[in-house]
Amino acid sequence: MAAIEETVHEPVAAKNEFAVENPATGEVIAHCPDLGAEAIAAMAKRGREVQPAWEALGFEGRARILKRMQKWVIDHQEEIIAVIRSETGKTYEDALIAEISYGAAAFGFWATNAEKYLADEKVKSSAILVKGKKLLLRYRPLGLVGVIGPWNYPLTNSFGDCVPALAAGNAVILKPSEITPLTSLKLAEGLKECGIPDGVFQVATGLGATGAALVDQVDMIMFTGSTATGKKVMAKAAETLTPVSLELGGKDPMIVLADADVERAANTALYYGMLNGGQTCISVERVYVEEPVYDAFVAKVTEKARALRQGTGAAGSVDVGSMTFPPQVDIVERHVEDAKAKGATVLVGGSRGKKSDPTHPGYWYEPTILVDVDHTMSAMTEETFGPTLPIMKVRDEEEAIRLANDSPYGLGASVFGKDTKHAEAVARRVEAGAVCVNDALVNYSALELPMGGAKASGLGSRHGAGGIRKYCQQQAILVTRFATKKDPHMYPYSAKMTARLGKFFSFLYGRGNRD
Ligand code: NAD
Repeated sequence: MAAIEETVHEPVAAKNEFAVENPATGEVIAHCPDLGAEAIAAMAKRGREVQPAWEALGFEGRARILKRMQKWVIDHQEEIIAVIRSETGKTYEDALIAEISYGAAAFGFWATNAEKYLADEKVKSSAILVKGKKLLLRYRPLGLVGVIGPWNYPLTNSFGDCVPALAAGNAVILKPSEITPLTSLKLAEGLKECGIPDGVFQVATGLGATGAALVDQVDMIMFTGSTATGKKVMAKAAETLTPVSLELGGKDPMIVLADADVERAANTALYYGMLNGGQTCISVERVYVEEPVYDAFVAKVTEKARALRQGTGAAGSVDVGSMTFPPQVDIVERHVEDAKAKGATVLVGGSRGKKSDPTHPGYWYEPTILVDVDHTMSAMTEETFGPTLPIMKVRDEEEAIRLANDSPYGLGASVFGKDTKHAEAVARRVEAGAVCVNDALVNYSALELPMGGAKASGLGSRHGAGGIRKYCQQQAILVTRFATKKDPHMYPYSAKMTARLGKFFSFLYGRGNRD
């Protein structure tokens, strides 16, 4: 198993501010403040001041604002897409499908479902001492939640976590990635227009140190990013015993069984390998294909990959965009060069630069298909996070499962086979937080279905009941009603009564132990 790369990159910043680039052109498009610990402490104070009123607004009051925001996202989608594209270099479709549609759905989903997931739960107990009493489990908001986001999906990742935290009644401070802060600032404008009270949602722009300062100030930290930074966040949070939820990196395998629909498997591998330029935490990062269908699968993927259009064009004109984070191009290049040096064959692409326009400015890597790969190569063991698809031939499904699990990561996975019962049995043996059969990634759009990483891919999950309860303190309530005239809690017990109680308990609980 390969060790996880510990490199964390940060751009060089001017004093107290940092530049934001359009990665498709390399041009600087904005500067944002690099907020320090003092500013974060002031924001935290503000958030704490306004949170009780936000909580008191109740589910309905909060839902009204979040639903207005759902409409706002749809009404302003072209503007938002333009901002997202300007700081990420992704295609129009990548911004529309994986950001706008998810973001709008999330505002509506949590507005509608928060109350259901957080309603008081009646608890029944067999304990004799609580007979006749009311026992409840309730979920109260933690207070101030800090969300730290990555650069690959500035809307989906960051707001996918902020919205349930807000719906639960928390104030939220979002620290977006310094590579893509503009989308968060745009959405903050929207929330303000939709009537969110001042200070309930705040955006703290800054570098890594700003994120570290946020960890010190909040009641819970929701972190999405690399495994290396996730470990630092968890260590920092341990100093103040602040709860954390971590959504980290992955190296998602796809297994193509001998009875797979090869056309469907090839389409899915390519689409979800190249989606967002391969910069998706649950991208298809490596493929294992059983021998009988290997040649057919490789031929189809190669043909389709050659036809991919790469660029910055209007809707419908390009398939793959630029890389978002400049140092990521170096990582992709290192993985491809390492694979080539160890015997891999490049069937498509294989170079940095934009396909069919290698001198184009900005940060680009060609859509790339690799074969003759194995687990001595970093392309098969480390997160590449780029438009590469390495394909490996395997003898049988046992070898495929063994290799799929030969990874420190365990985020997502997929299995292809027409015998779906059998494919599901294979899926259940893959060590991953989510596995799709005859599909990939779409599970992420089902907000009812929990999504979280196994192994070094994370801690906790988003979506479903757990995706909002993590922003709450679980509180047990016991209420003694005055239904009986005599209060049984009289002190002190007499020796006679204690002896009687002892006999009663041994009779009651001893029964269960008889043969
Ligand atoms: P990163 O870890 O470099 O940065 C993430 C965020 O952490 C940024 O906002 C950064 O400023 C901040 N940060 C850096 N140092 C910090 C510190 N010491 N304390 C607190 N915050 C700090 O990650 P990235 O490069 O922005 O994102 C790419 C990674 O994110 C990939 O590994 C990808 O797989 C992962 N990711 C995971 C998911 C998921 O749901 N599991 C989703 C998207 C991305």
